[in-house]
Formats: sequence, C-alpha cells, structure tokens
Amino acid sequence: MKKIVVFTGAGISAESGIKTFRDSNGLWEEFKIEDVATWKGWNKDRSKVIDFYNSCRRQLKNVQPNDAHKALAKLEEKYKVVVITQNVDDLHERGGSTNILHLHGELTKARSTMDPSLVYDIGYEDIKIGDKCDRGSQLRPHIVWFGEAVPMMEVASNMISDADIIIVVGTSMQVYPAANLIEYVSSNAEIYFIDPNAINNLNRKIKTIREKAGIAVPELVNVLLKNA
Ligand code: NAD
Repeated sequence: MKKIVVFTGAGISAESGIKTFRDSNGLWEEFKIEDVATWKGWNKDRSKVIDFYNSCRRQLKNVQPNDAHKALAKLEEKYKVVVITQNVDDLHERGGSTNILHLHGELTKARSTMDPSLVYDIGYEDIKIGDKCDRGSQLRPHIVWFGEAVPMMEVASNMISDADIIIVVGTSMQVYPAANLIEYVSSNAEIYFIDPNAINNLNRKIKTIREKAGIAVPELVNVLLKNA
C-alpha cells in the first residue's frame, strides 16, 4: 500500500464555517494574536484567553465536516494515510479519518499549566477560571501558542519523509515551524497543493490546484482511488 500524508491548514475547514486567520474577515481581524495566542496574553488576562477558546469550541460544536474532510477519509480504503493538521478543530475526526496528528493542539482538550503531560478531554465544554488539573494548577486550552515549541514536529517530519504522495490543503504556509515540514518530503514523492490562493514558493515541482477544498479534494481523491 502506498503512503499518503495529507497536510492541512485552516482553509480545509473554511467551507464548514470556521474562519481562517489570514483571509479577509479572518479571526485575526477581531482578536490580536498577542492577546489570545501567547503566554504573554495568558499572563495579562487569562479570562480573555479562556473566553476566546470557549467561543471557538462552542462554534465548533455547531459546524460539520465538509466534503473535503469526508473525501480524505475514503483514501484509507486503498492507501496508508496520515493526516497532519495545523487545525485545532476536530473535523478530520468527525469526517472519518482515523490517523490524525494535530500539530497545534486540539480545542476539545485542556491541559495543565504546570505539567504539559496532563491533558484532559473536555469535548465541547467551556474551560472556567478555577478548573484545575490533578496537581492543582489552572487548566488552559490545549493549544500551541505562538512562541511555544511544537512538540509533534519530529514525529510529523518522520511521517512526511517516507510518504509517496503529499496532499497539502488550505494553508498559507506562513506559520512556522509547520511550514518547514515540506522540506522533509522525499524527492520521489508527488506533491499536490490545493488552495484558491496557492503560491508555489518551494523549490519543488508541485501540482497546484487553485480551487476550494470542498470541490478539489473529492476530485483528487477519486483520481487517486482509481489509480491505486
Ligand atoms: P491561514 O489562515 O494562514 O491560511 C488559510 C489558507 O486557506 C489560505 O491560504 C487560504 O487561501 C486558504 N483557503 C481559504 N478558503 C479555502 C477553501 N475553501 N479551500 C481551500 N483553501 C482555502 O491558515 P493556516 O495556514 O492553517 O495557519 C494558521 C494557523 O491558524 C494554524 O496554526 C491553524 O492552527 C490555525 N487555525 C486553525 C483553525 C481551525 O482549526 N479550523 C482556524 C483558524 C486558524
């Protein structure tokens, strides 16, 4: 079985109704990064940070996976598939994919501010000031903030380096170190890049598909399933 690594960003969830960061009307126009996605913001006003992610989590509860998430799950019929996502939503899981690596954390989890190994499933419940981990420290969103290390990078780069096919969907490739992952792709691998605004700034031959994920991903999946 050939191995496919799918690398996704906020764009794959846009058609489900979750705003991306950099598109116009994106989240960053309403909130400042430093206020809600950094340790500095947390130390300044943790209620504001908690409220921001609580509202993202409530929104997530009310949206559904779209045709792109669902199509990717079908690839598992004929390929060994890993989805590496920068997204913190759970739409790949709900779309049916079974092997998912969240590089930047997950909205449906909370973790200890004292011990990062203490991670708790919270589903779509709010985090509240006063919610504590087993060691007694305040719970925070299980999200990798700007300036924090991305613990899953090494696992992700190993996965990407032995893939036969890479499918990149809906990412501006501007968030590092995640964007560096593409450097680990083997020289024999085929790369597809689906994004209406895709820019190929990589020194690689890439099949660029400037189209929305909900249209282009199911089409590409059908072709790959036929060719498997
Ligand atoms: P980004 O906001 O930087 O870029 C989004 C990309 O999606 C853009 O290139 C845009 O052209 C593309 N896009 C927009 N609509 C699309 C569609 N219908 N189909 C395909 N592509 C489409 O997002 P990023 O590169 O993922 O990086 C931003 C960071 O924001 C990531 O760390 C991510 O964790 C986080 N984020 C996550 C979510 C989520 O979990 N759904 C939402 C917003 C931001």
